[in-house]
Amino acid sequence: MPELSGPLRPGATIGMMGGGQLGRMAAVAAARLGYRVHVFTPEADSPAAQVSAAATVAEWSDSEALGRFAASVDVVTFEFENVPGDALDLLAARVPVAPSPRVLRVSQDRIAEKTFLAEAGVATGPWAPVTAQAQAAAAIAAVGLPCVLKTTRLGYDGKGQATLRRADELAPALGKLAGQDGSFRPLVAEAFIDFACEVSVIVARDRAGTIAAYDTVENRHRNHILDLTIAPARVASAVAEAAQSAARRVAEAIGLVGLLCIEFFVTQDGRVLANEIAPRPHNSGHWTIEACAVSQFEQQVRAVAGLPLGDPSRHSDAVMKNLIGDEIGAVPALLATPGLVPHHYGKAEARPGRKMGHVTRLFPRGGLPDETGIAAAFAPAP
Ligand code: AMP
Repeated sequence: MPELSGPLRPGATIGMMGGGQLGRMAAVAAARLGYRVHVFTPEADSPAAQVSAAATVAEWSDSEALGRFAASVDVVTFEFENVPGDALDLLAARVPVAPSPRVLRVSQDRIAEKTFLAEAGVATGPWAPVTAQAQAAAAIAAVGLPCVLKTTRLGYDGKGQATLRRADELAPALGKLAGQDGSFRPLVAEAFIDFACEVSVIVARDRAGTIAAYDTVENRHRNHILDLTIAPARVASAVAEAAQSAARRVAEAIGLVGLLCIEFFVTQDGRVLANEIAPRPHNSGHWTIEACAVSQFEQQVRAVAGLPLGDPSRHSDAVMKNLIGDEIGAVPALLATPGLVPHHYGKAEARPGRKMGHVTRLFPRGGLPDETGIAAAFAPAP
């Protein structure tokens, strides 16, 4: 694989695989550093393409389009972890790609991911692979009930998941998780974790192995989709530190060049169990745009472009709320409310469950409000 020989010069082009809001915010950060972004996505008029210098709209499998794209960019990264590994391999043969296709592949497959985490010495909840339907009953017995069955690939925001409370719920769950043609898809069975809260850490690593990690934050989900991120997480310092050190271990063990997010469950007795790795900017890091001197998006660009990493420290506390589906209609009222910073991703259609934007409120460092204050943080001004 070709490697960057030095920092990317201003005016150079970063190839971005994926056209979603993460690519959009990274493209804005890249522009601030003097770079152009060329987006590759199958989607016409994507959020990232709207703010980028160039876009290739083509299927992931279109090797001619991938070849032209590779010839037109100086380095490639991605904002979407379901980019086919083969597409990234094709690019990596011609142009530097960061994070590497191996990092992408580990994060795409829940069995590969959990196996990697175990090898890296990062704890997860009990799990068992279900690579054939006949293994399912034994896997559930091994992890115990209740449990969560998840497809190994292409699941996100609760898609490709089924929670089982009783053994007789297995057959309907297998039906729900089958492919469109009814065929079995590989699964993992996970013990259901009765977590006290969920936290995440975003960590960047450059080619020299320097690491910069953002503070551990707390995440609340609604309908399986991230609703709120509270920065910093209101957990014991030992819990926040355990998440930090696990994130650093993952970045080192996987040889990361770029940025990744690792999500954890915090158990009632204060253990930190890794759930998922996403080797790209993450929804739980949007607060860094306003609350840190260098956001997660700029940090990704710096790592990929061979620039020094920026200071990830938090100058303010923050709460970020996603605007899902019709909630995007609140933007005019949010804009008119002092202290709120809404972001709109430029998506034309507000489908239910679709991430349309987000809004952040800053608080003085150490000055997060209580639960009532957090619930009221995004109320529009009367
Ligand atoms: P995932 O797609 O694995 O990130 O899961 C989405 C969300 O579902 C998580 O953030 C949790 O809120 C919930 N969830 C997933 N797996 C489990 C589990 N094993 N136990 C309890 N809740 C889970």
